[in-house]
Amino acid sequence: PVRVRFAPSPTGNLHVGGARTALFNYLFARSKGGTFVLRIEDTDLERSTKESEEALLRDLSWLGLGWDEGPGVGGDYGPYRQSERNSLYKQYAEKLLESGQVYRCFCSNEELEKMKEVAKLKQLPPVYTGKWANATNEEVEEELTKGTPYTYRFRVPKGNLKINDIIRGEVSWSLDTLGDFVIMRSNGQPVYNFCVTVDDATMAISHVIRAEEHLPNTLRQALIYKALGFPMPYFAHVSLILAPDRSKLSKRHGATSVGQFREMGYLPEAMVNYLALLGWGDGTENEFFTLNQLVEKFTIERVNKSGAVFDSTKLRWMNGQHLRARPLQEVAQLIGDHWKASGLLTVSTGPFVDEAIELLKDGIDLIPDADTALSNLLSYPIHSTLQSHEAESVIQDNLSNFFVSLLAAYDNGELVAALEEGHDGWKKWVKAFGKSLKRKGKSLFMPLRLLLTGKLHGPDMGASVVLLYKAGTTSIVAPEAG
Ligand code: GLU
Repeated sequence: PVRVRFAPSPTGNLHVGGARTALFNYLFARSKGGTFVLRIEDTDLERSTKESEEALLRDLSWLGLGWDEGPGVGGDYGPYRQSERNSLYKQYAEKLLESGQVYRCFCSNEELEKMKEVAKLKQLPPVYTGKWANATNEEVEEELTKGTPYTYRFRVPKGNLKINDIIRGEVSWSLDTLGDFVIMRSNGQPVYNFCVTVDDATMAISHVIRAEEHLPNTLRQALIYKALGFPMPYFAHVSLILAPDRSKLSKRHGATSVGQFREMGYLPEAMVNYLALLGWGDGTENEFFTLNQLVEKFTIERVNKSGAVFDSTKLRWMNGQHLRARPLQEVAQLIGDHWKASGLLTVSTGPFVDEAIELLKDGIDLIPDADTALSNLLSYPIHSTLQSHEAESVIQDNLSNFFVSLLAAYDNGELVAALEEGHDGWKKWVKAFGKSLKRKGKSLFMPLRLLLTGKLHGPDMGASVVLLYKAGTTSIVAPEAG
């Protein structure tokens, strides 16, 4: 059975790289009818925090990437925090000691430093010399009675190690320059790579899907796997996410954490869709996927082995696609709440909100864009518009005559009556008004838009004017905004 895991360290925020790893694991599990495990890798007690763990769980849940086993859910392979699994690590370390695949090393730090210096002088790789690898029982007993602190070292075999990575193909290492490495420190703390291996093995993980930067760990973990006698999982190492300049994406490139994007108003489904495209595609031109569609289409074999560039402009655009894919009522709720919260409107729901969103939604990619869109609609910047180069031809087009006629239509109440009727009333009136002035098309609509909205461009004029009229006759527009 397919069992995969996402194994974050709770030492900071969930960034886009981690979220994509979680997503690929989730999609793989769901597409194979497998199990998605969440494991918290909090062996680094100094840097791990409870807040960070909570934030991770919150961000994953927000993205919709629910886990089948893990914190808050439980499962048959728990506990799911490394800090709660120490006895298990000890147990397996002892097993390896008994079988001789691990030995005690009594070297002091000074001694180890010396070894490195000597190696450097001889221009050799700075690896452990194997000093205690073949110690006799007596030598070991002597140190034990003296109470000399010791670490557990893994006996690295000679030769090569190779794995078949699902994404990268064959990856092989020479073991000759690795050196016997520590799996348990002298204070009894197991070392990271050992914990991960014991966890993956005892949690029956079938596929390890993680970031490329863990490849060096894979070498050590694969050796430990073999020594423990567990069947090796399949590995899939996903490439890095790059900044537009192709350097590694980092904070200096702007927002990189899922929490930041949520606070900026991004929708989880847009995040998920965009993250999936970082290194994956279904082979067609289509880029729009819901989470369910991704589950349907995802195959790990299609994950690209080269780095993927994080393009925040594209993410923004994608957010607009998903925003407009939501039912209008939901969008209205989100945007209405936002308008009220930012003080543009005194209400958050109602016909005005609905009509305004219907009119403006094509220009809104991110919820906060709705603020600018609405303020633009409500503003009347005729002075600056008239100063624009573009306004010249409109003004020269005998506008005074036009203005007088428009005022007359307002004075005799026909314009207001039309607007009261809504969009249909407006259409009828515009037609008649144009006829009376012998104007149509651009020469009718440009001056009309200019005089009524103060602008030369904007969303559908009829709907805009009807809304402006409503804004003026109701008290829903907050006074500062209008
Ligand atoms: N805890 C590691 C990290 O946060 C992941 C280890 C793994 O996936 O094997 O990067």
